[in-house]
Amino acid sequence: MAAIRVAAVLMTQTCDLARSEFWAVSPLNTLEPNFDRGSLYGGYFNTLFPYPKHEHFEDSLIDITELHPIRPSNVSLANRIASVKMPIQQLLSDRFLHAMGRRWGHAKDEEVPQEGNYRCLGCNDFDMPVQEKLFKKGEKFPDCERCATIRRSAQWYLLRKPKEKQRAAIK
Ligand SMILES: [Zn+2]
Repeated sequence: MAAIRVAAVLMTQTCDLARSEFWAVSPLNTLEPNFDRGSLYGGYFNTLFPYPKHEHFEDSLIDITELHPIRPSNVSLANRIASVKMPIQQLLSDRFLHAMGRRWGHAKDEEVPQEGNYRCLGCNDFDMPVQEKLFKKGEKFPDCERCATIRRSAQWYLLRKPKEKQRAAIK
């Protein structure tokens, strides 16, 4: 069996390393010269995390959601080429939770499955008044105007009716 050696970021938490049968790693990808570094370092890509040029690698990024299991016996700590400081670990951990745990929403051009008021998940992160839009079944979801200005895609989700309104509708 052939194996390829690549640089990767160890994603398993330090406290879990000793007792885990597998460790999770995310491969380090070298940035293309024309890659949008401003958006990457600005945090506009939900699942991408930058690693600036270092003695052992070029300007790179990882896709936080691209996790591969490896056996600890296949790597040795002697192969470690870099480690990140605590604030960066925390930032990565926050970004990981956001990327893996974020709720799901409809993108532009998807068909509206049911009539109702929708909000955009992407907008919820920002300190702005909440906006709701009524969409009818069968329509196509539009871009979210706010998110489009920062080149994020819309994530429309349906607002459920509170219990009182549901009950009122049944009576
Ligand atoms: Zn939005």
